[in-house]
Amino acid sequence: MVRKDDQNCRNLRFRIHPTPEQEKKLNETLECCRLIWNHLLSLQVDLYERFGLSVKRSELEKLLKNLDYPIHSSVRLDVFQRLCFAYDKFFDDLEKGRLKNTKPKKGMFVKRKNVPCGNNSSGFIKYDGILPKAHPKFKSKEDFSSFRYKQHGNGWRLDGNWLHLSKITSKSNLIKIDIDNLPNGELKTCTLKKEGKQWFAYLTVELPDNPVPSTPENAVGIDLGLKSFITTSDDDFVEPPKFLRKAENRLAKEQRKLSRMKFRSNNYNKQKQKVNRIHRKVAAARNHFSHCLSKLLVNKYDLIVFEELKIKNLIKNNRLAKSISDVGWNKLVQHVTYKAAEKGKIVDKVNPDNTSQVCSHCGTKKKEKLRLENRTFYCSNCGLEMDRDLNASVNVLTKSSYYDPSMHTVGLAGMNGCGDGTSTTGLDISSQVPSMNQQMLNLVKG
Ligand SMILES: [Zn+2]
Repeated sequence: MVRKDDQNCRNLRFRIHPTPEQEKKLNETLECCRLIWNHLLSLQVDLYERFGLSVKRSELEKLLKNLDYPIHSSVRLDVFQRLCFAYDKFFDDLEKGRLKNTKPKKGMFVKRKNVPCGNNSSGFIKYDGILPKAHPKFKSKEDFSSFRYKQHGNGWRLDGNWLHLSKITSKSNLIKIDIDNLPNGELKTCTLKKEGKQWFAYLTVELPDNPVPSTPENAVGIDLGLKSFITTSDDDFVEPPKFLRKAENRLAKEQRKLSRMKFRSNNYNKQKQKVNRIHRKVAAARNHFSHCLSKLLVNKYDLIVFEELKIKNLIKNNRLAKSISDVGWNKLVQHVTYKAAEKGKIVDKVNPDNTSQVCSHCGTKKKEKLRLENRTFYCSNCGLEMDRDLNASVNVLTKSSYYDPSMHTVGLAGMNGCGDGTSTTGLDISSQVPSMNQQMLNLVKG
């Protein structure tokens, strides 16, 4: 999902209930968008293959206007812009050397004969080669699931619990949308997305300016760790709930199965659907967990300090546990950031270098790196002995330029929340909010 980097923009997901007739039109629009994508892409690829040339964007845009598809112009334009965006990213990656030493994977290549676009009538579908890794791909029905109206009032409109979509709904026949607590703000884009058999609308809302942050009184540093999901400088640690882990393991297992199957065979397609279904459920559960935890943190603290996540390092480490946590951390930091902004609280990100090697008490730096299995930090200078993650989280906090030793640091203990986190202070959050957990469990089991 392309999302504005703007903190003031919120992307919200709502279920919609199209009638069979409306659903047919949604599917048709989706298919049109996919054909446009493949058509434009095939032009580019073919011209490059044959003559080493690339099509000018302005030419492509002109051509786009002449394509005769029964969809709204802003939806059509959005497909074009998505393709441009994909190309820009590809060239950028090439230029910065990010594609070096990466082995191609199954599914990264689409042979031209599998491209469902244009048949041979356009004369462009003769290419049978392999596209380089990260090149924009030809899309099959399975990998094209959304389209977007770019501007509220131009092609789409929200009217209470009813959605008006140009070329899909008529005046007397709007689509029902389940809207609950839409924040006050200006509506921007509307993305229609098919997830399995259900349809969702993702609405972007630009919120009014956030309150100016006040002087923080309570502060916390957070270490993102492997053993615990997070460790706070108040000596609390929070684990992701066990059933989330289980669901994630199951996802990994089914994904491994998928990787052994013949690409795009019947069994492959079936397994792919299964994997997608688990994906959606895990994502929903993860989201829920992250929302709860971020709410806890933002309610309790005025200043929250994280380590800057280094994407490069994250990619280097292929271990599953790590990659799962990465997704979760990114999400948590995102959620905390926007929730804090809304409440006028401060989130700071500091350089993670040396946070695990420096003594949080006297500042002496250890010469050798602490090994991963080494859980305790011991300082030979001042004799400090402390859990290594806790030591790191204190360092994270004191590294922040907002930090001032007069600030309170209070524990997470005693806070109400959800998730079955555990804490060294003996707090069992899950026992406090069992219904929340049940909700999450249902999400995973479905
Ligand atoms: Zn020390």
